[in-house]
Amino acid sequence: MSQVPARGESAIAPASSLPSYLQADNLGPWGNYLQQVDRVVPYLGNLARWAETLKRPKRILIVDVPIHMDDGTVAHFEGYRVQHNVSRGPGKGGVRFHQDVTLSEVMALAAWMSVKNAVVNVPYGGAKGAVRVDPKILSRGELERMTRRYTSEIGIIIGPNKDIPAPDVNTNDQIMAWMMDTYSMNTGSTATGVVTGKPVDLGGSLGRHEATGRGVFTVGAEAARHIGLVISGSRVAVQGFGNVGGVAGKLFAEAGAHVVAVQDHGGTIYREAGLDVPELLKHVKETGSVSGFAQAEVIANDQFWDVDCDILIPAALEQQITATNAGRIKARMIIEGANGPTTPDADDILQERNVLVLPDVIANAGGVTVSYFEWVQDFSSFFWDEDEINARLVKIMKGAFAAVWQVAQENKVSLRTAAFIVACTRILHTRELRGLYP
Ligand code: NAD
Repeated sequence: MSQVPARGESAIAPASSLPSYLQADNLGPWGNYLQQVDRVVPYLGNLARWAETLKRPKRILIVDVPIHMDDGTVAHFEGYRVQHNVSRGPGKGGVRFHQDVTLSEVMALAAWMSVKNAVVNVPYGGAKGAVRVDPKILSRGELERMTRRYTSEIGIIIGPNKDIPAPDVNTNDQIMAWMMDTYSMNTGSTATGVVTGKPVDLGGSLGRHEATGRGVFTVGAEAARHIGLVISGSRVAVQGFGNVGGVAGKLFAEAGAHVVAVQDHGGTIYREAGLDVPELLKHVKETGSVSGFAQAEVIANDQFWDVDCDILIPAALEQQITATNAGRIKARMIIEGANGPTTPDADDILQERNVLVLPDVIANAGGVTVSYFEWVQDFSSFFWDEDEINARLVKIMKGAFAAVWQVAQENKVSLRTAAFIVACTRILHTRELRGLYP
């Protein structure tokens, strides 16, 4: 006779019966995420019975995105939107355009958004979207048509109260403007709140462009204080010099740090005395990459991990710091601007070597925090000035960091596990309060 579980007890199938694409040995970022969840389960108390919820995305949508190319042919791209968890509110998370993007990656990115939104306590669940395309090879017209068709295809599950996309790798405020317009055309009214990271003239928020980098800097400065690392005069290495890495690098340089090495998709540059960051930003704006910057020497991409520095900021893609290079890193502190840059194996090596890792789910949460401000401003049609936005951002980031730091000290765990304890407790608590339907 099969046993009927007591009320409130998990009746969900055990992990072993997860579909193959949800299994941890399905290599890739989703596998890393599942390992991170396993590490937090022992700290969840009674809520652990709901932990399975965290291992299954609520909804996965895969769409075909066909468009007319300029040469008259029709090209098809694969698009995704994953809503990992919406217990705490509508889904929220960026849209990435990248030629190598996979479903495993989008699932992990969506899940990390659930965790991140809960760490900073904004009323959202987690979601993420992507199109498997290299946007750099599309004309502006092709890029617009692709963005609009993708938006239309995922239009059945997004909306200001359902799921709110934002920029991520290779997407920006113009892409958000096209997404907002497409959704608005399809629904028959201007819905500014359907995406965040829009141009300021279209309901975007002041400070949003800089928000993620500002959050990276804020959390980094707080952590540095705790470990007695002085920012002024410190040596910083940055991987990825786009929205996140560029702004973070600028703020660290303004605080007196020497940004000695920068790597992007075009190559790696180094200057012992520190790079001229404003000039480098200008160069990247004009040429699209740090490569070719005159006032620096070129080093091999792999040498980036050996650079003598105090602070390392990975701000490009996932799985950059692995068991292979974690032992070579000289930094005392790693601030994860990117999502998922460190694998669980590398986390263990870094912890053993006493390198402090500020995990993505708090370090880069500044972007979604100001996205939340943008969404609130859109709903109320009342816009705040930049000082107010930055002040509120810094307050939330410092508060979230302090809470995570305390949980880490109390439980003698890494900041990543501590952030997951804070977030997963919040998510599963709302899961329990809401109960299962029907
Ligand atoms: P972006 O497109 O503005 O910049 C990406 C940067 O990474 C570019 O400098 C690019 O050259 C570099 N890059 C790409 N491939 C690389 C490679 N193989 N090696 C080295 N560098 C490479 O993107 P972004 O918005 O700055 O996002 C960067 C990371 O930050 C991503 O992981 C993203 O998910 C995360 N993130 C972004 C935001 C945001 O608000 N934009 C918020 C939170 C997290």
